[in-house]
Amino acid sequence: MKAQPLFMEPVFKEMIWGGTALRDVFGYDIPGDDTGECWAISAHENGDCTVRTRNADGTPAPTDLDGIKLSALYREMPALFWGDAAEGAPARFPILTKILAAADDLSIQVHPDDAYAHEHENGADGKTECWYVIDAKPDATIIIGHNASSKEELKQMMDEKRFKELVREIPVKKGDFFFIEAGTVHAIKAGTLILETQQNTDITYRLYDYDRLQNGKPRELHLEKCLDVIPCPYQPKKVPHAEVRAFSNGSYIRNLVTCGLFGVNLISVTDELKICGKDVRKTFTIVSVLDGEGAITRAADSAETWQIRKGEHMILPADFGAYTLTGNLQIVTSWPE
Ligand code: ZN
Repeated sequence: MKAQPLFMEPVFKEMIWGGTALRDVFGYDIPGDDTGECWAISAHENGDCTVRTRNADGTPAPTDLDGIKLSALYREMPALFWGDAAEGAPARFPILTKILAAADDLSIQVHPDDAYAHEHENGADGKTECWYVIDAKPDATIIIGHNASSKEELKQMMDEKRFKELVREIPVKKGDFFFIEAGTVHAIKAGTLILETQQNTDITYRLYDYDRLQNGKPRELHLEKCLDVIPCPYQPKKVPHAEVRAFSNGSYIRNLVTCGLFGVNLISVTDELKICGKDVRKTFTIVSVLDGEGAITRAADSAETWQIRKGEHMILPADFGAYTLTGNLQIVTSWPE
């Protein structure tokens, strides 16, 4: 018998910049009115998701996978994720998918690359991330990149707290996509709802936190490490991606990014879309439903159908095969490269 979709029970994080959008938009049962992050697909020790399996009618499926943590499942059954490639597979689940709901500004920050993190962060991976903007208020902005021409100038501007002058701030709107390579200065700002696909790591170096207090104290800054990992001058790069493929019924598949770490697609389904041929991956696929409701049916067996709806996240195992999406759905998928 082929493996079923692994639905995820997300982990929520309250944040100094959080709010209620995760409840208002997705109906999640959030822990408080300052909830900022939904760790939707995560095997990270700081927020390990619980696996849920279910039958077509929504009742829990009789499998021993239900209730297990994603990290444990990944350790115990690598072939479920990697199929024939399980032997050389990474020891840690490689991707972390979050929804970020910013009611206030996130700190101005940067993440290290793999080489720097391996050396300075106990062998952890670096963090390249990317953002699909689910929604944004009319005047919302984000920060990507900086204006310092050299490390000396960067240090001086940081020392003198000339952050407005240092960073590049740009308008953001629903449907935008940004690729934030390790080493890129960035900040998500108030009034944005973002689906983030990133390397499975939790290392952030803060340049500036707007002199805010959390429990009466400022959050830690990491100025030395910031200086180490930020290249000067900043060189914006084109996002590596493939073209949009449109289908006659209005459905489309838009490749948002394909980098050496992961690939991310936006899939819009009108009535029906078959995922077959080269779109069927030999390793696992992460699926996040951002809007609408419908179903996913395994192509080989039309009796195997699972209802899916807005706010649900799942992993399709390596042997899942071709499938049909029905309904009206906005979905983001991702996979390891
Ligand atoms: Zn970040």
